Amino acid sequence: MTGGIVLDLRACNGVLVDPELRQVSTGPGTVLGELDTATAAHGLAVPVGVISGTGVAGLCLGGGFGWLTRAHGLTVDNLIAAQMITPDGETVRADARTNPELLWGLRGGGGNFGVMTSFTFSAHAMPQSVLAGNLIYRAPHWSGALHALREWSSELPDAMTVIATVLVPPLEWELGTEAILAVGFAWADPDHAAGTACVERFTQLAPPDVHDVAATSWPQWQSSMDDVFPKGVRAYWKNTGIDSLDDDTIALLVEKATELTWPGTAFDLHVMGGAMGRVAQEATAFPDRSSAFWINIYGFWKDQVQDAHHRDFIRGFHRDMSAVAQGGEYLNFSSVDAPAASGFDALAVYGEEKYARLAALKRRYDPHNELRLNHNIKVTG
Ligand SMILES: Cc1cc2nc3c(=O)[nH]c(=O)nc-3n(C[C@H](O)[C@H](O)[C@H](O)COP(=O)(O)OP(=O)(O)OC[C@H]3O[C@@H](n4cnc5c(N)ncnc54)[C@H](O)[C@@H]3O)c2cc1C
Repeated sequence: MTGGIVLDLRACNGVLVDPELRQVSTGPGTVLGELDTATAAHGLAVPVGVISGTGVAGLCLGGGFGWLTRAHGLTVDNLIAAQMITPDGETVRADARTNPELLWGLRGGGGNFGVMTSFTFSAHAMPQSVLAGNLIYRAPHWSGALHALREWSSELPDAMTVIATVLVPPLEWELGTEAILAVGFAWADPDHAAGTACVERFTQLAPPDVHDVAATSWPQWQSSMDDVFPKGVRAYWKNTGIDSLDDDTIALLVEKATELTWPGTAFDLHVMGGAMGRVAQEATAFPDRSSAFWINIYGFWKDQVQDAHHRDFIRGFHRDMSAVAQGGEYLNFSSVDAPAASGFDALAVYGEEKYARLAALKRRYDPHNELRLNHNIKVTG
């Protein structure tokens, strides 16, 4: 990298929980597993992502989808204060009273304004044991399960967050070597009977081939998918919002799922709405909350010779989705195809109004665009 510096903030991973105020402060080097373990000790949780090794900082600055999205919103919806150091050395705090516009921008505007040094989140009460699991479907039942998901998701209580994944399962799961559809869910409420009844409404519509559901601890559930994402690998991601799971969309998803014959490439279908969907569009810089579903198509692999094949599959899948999808881009699920500063169209992603506010923040806090190896907000605009 020419003329740049890389900061390793991994050691800045302290987590301070205030159980009375239900607030959690953490450094920029914290990973989700550390945050989950610290909050679970107080019967609390912050809505974050689903893989324990992901960094809180990058996840939060882009949005933060996970198993509490419908119950308590995105990670950014729970960010109540933050501190950063600007490129020219100014320490700046942002909360509802101090620099509220910066707080707005940090809720989805990425790492564009300064080097973050702390984050403070609202936390939520979590049951001691969480009802969560996967309902697993083999290929002949994918279409039926997706039609059932359409019906079930139209009346889901907020406590239920659902992510349906198609993948070739890791060998340790002992589910064979062919792709499966895993309808994963987490029920963020102590009333397990109500959660079980909610799950049964789905399984009556689409009886699963394997029913893998149990009460578990929050940190355990939060690391249950870690096997799927090896570290130190090559990767490529694309995503888009989906308005409705109509018959054409389901047919396309089943067609693409059928083509998935190798491990490492997969797609997640997030059921949106709930608390996340009720936050006003203009309340945060996060680009768009209107889609009923969000699809994330991704691949991980080790060998460079596989780059073209795996990347082309994901690009082709994403291109085909444009015929049925609503559009939109969640930046944390998005690979940038060209060098970051030039290959990313922030105006198209954020829309005119949000982009203008983000560009004004950029001019205020990073006028020379020192922080540009990111989903970059241009200084001009
Ligand atoms: C295995 C895996 C699983 C994932 N699962 C989810 C998920 O469940 N939900 C979800 O929403 N996303 C998920 N993501 C996407 C994830 O949110 C993004 O990749 C995010 O950028 C990761 O942030 P990081 O801090 O780990 O990475 P980093 O590479 O450290 O940071 C990514 C970017 O964030 C910014 N940034 C990070 N730290 C700072 C800082 N201190 N100051 C200023 N800017 C900073 C920078 O622009 C940096 O380039 C996942 C990613 C992976 C690889």
